[in-house]
Amino acid sequence: MPINGQTKVVGIIGDPVKHSLSPQMHNVAFKHLNLDFVYIPFHVKPESVGEAIKGMRALAMVGLNVTVPHKIEVMKYLDEVSPDAKAIGAVNTIFFKDNKCIGDNTDGRGFIRALIEDEGIIIAGKSVVILGAGGSARAIGHSLIKDGVGRLIFCNRTVSKAESIAGSFQSMGISVAGMGIIDSRDEIAQADMIINTTSIGMKQGDPLLINPEWIRKRQIVYDIIYSPPETLLLQAAKARGARVMNGLGMLIHQGALAFEIWTGCPAPVEVMRNVFP
Ligand code: NAP
Repeated sequence: MPINGQTKVVGIIGDPVKHSLSPQMHNVAFKHLNLDFVYIPFHVKPESVGEAIKGMRALAMVGLNVTVPHKIEVMKYLDEVSPDAKAIGAVNTIFFKDNKCIGDNTDGRGFIRALIEDEGIIIAGKSVVILGAGGSARAIGHSLIKDGVGRLIFCNRTVSKAESIAGSFQSMGISVAGMGIIDSRDEIAQADMIINTTSIGMKQGDPLLINPEWIRKRQIVYDIIYSPPETLLLQAAKARGARVMNGLGMLIHQGALAFEIWTGCPAPVEVMRNVFP
């Protein structure tokens, strides 16, 4: 649909942003449903986040995605944040409701939707180890707890961060703990699912954070990295007989949830998935 005076504008702010696959994914989906929307990437430096949100209001945009490194900083410029975004402490989707600029976080819900819809995996009662204690670990951990995970262990290079994130979820009524990755052998061996949320595995030559011999047959190993599609961790887990999956499903479903918030229409998930070779 050609851009015209009524076209609704959404987009993404990040630094950098040129690598983002979201514009392609959303614009294909708008075209497929014949929606008069356009999605634009905006390279916004950290010192300009507040100005960007002001600009978004002034330009009457419908919403924004927010990516690294602005997911936390952006919160101070919003009128409200959703309960999920508040618990996670970060925003990845902004929308307007009743003239208020509201921040939400679809990363954790996107992860769960990818597990259920793409893989048929039910999380209730499972024992899960999360490698990492950054923003995505917090988002995924929060959603896993909401979905009834049985036991949750955060394992991180910086132990204090793993302990702190676990401590913040203690009141949600499940067994949750934090520890160092190097001490995680027994927890990994006993887990139903191991999720890598660190950035280790993106670059060629990145090491394995865990000893692959700790991984058992029939465990689920999920790496939220999607480029490369098969990290060293996934290769090692596959060789051990584990069921493996990468972060593409999470990327698509967090985007699909944002799409639904902005447009009110169910997202054409398969059309969005087909963007990726
Ligand atoms: P973040 O908040 O910066 O957290 C990074 C994590 O990686 C921390 O736990 C950090 O440990 C760990 N780490 C970094 N370098 C390390 C090293 N050399 N050795 C061991 N651990 C190391 O990042 P994030 O926002 O959670 O994102 C993490 C990854 O997830 C990125 O690769 C991102 O692209 C991916 N991601 C994917 C999706 C998706 O839709 N598939 C969505 C969001 C993010 P310390 O605390 O010790 O520094």
